Amino acid sequence: MTDTTARMLAGRCLCGSVHYVVADEFRYAANCHCTDCRRTTGSAFKPFAGIEREKFSVTKGTDRLQTYGQENAHDARCGKCGSFLYSVVRDGAYVHVALGPLADEPTIRPSEHIFVGSKAPWFTITDDLPQYRTHVAEGPPINR
Ligand SMILES: [Zn+2]
Ligand SMILES: [Zn+2]
Repeated sequence: MTDTTARMLAGRCLCGSVHYVVADEFRYAANCHCTDCRRTTGSAFKPFAGIEREKFSVTKGTDRLQTYGQENAHDARCGKCGSFLYSVVRDGAYVHVALGPLADEPTIRPSEHIFVGSKAPWFTITDDLPQYRTHVAEGPPINR
């Protein structure tokens, strides 16, 4: 169950069919430049934040969700407008919430760029956050 003392953040898709809430208790946040995230979002990278699955819930439009993948590893978007909203990851234990559709401001900020090894060549990272070739755990940052 969601901790009722936690500050809750709301988010929704473009057309408003799908609404969700998530506790402002994200464990980590990053900008992912992998090709999957670029394709899924249609953007240069995906800013996302990770949290335990039970601290996230869809409050409206569960029947409108379109998922891609398996029960415990999938991307979810609105089946009507197509907004990419979140991914269920880590054997279903965590949700990676795409930060773009959040209506409320989370306390956390992306703390690194990951999968910079597959970054779009036309995009230049202009901040000073650490850049990792793949996952954070797989080696030191490549820009420091
Ligand atoms: Zn929608
Ligand atoms: Zn990615």
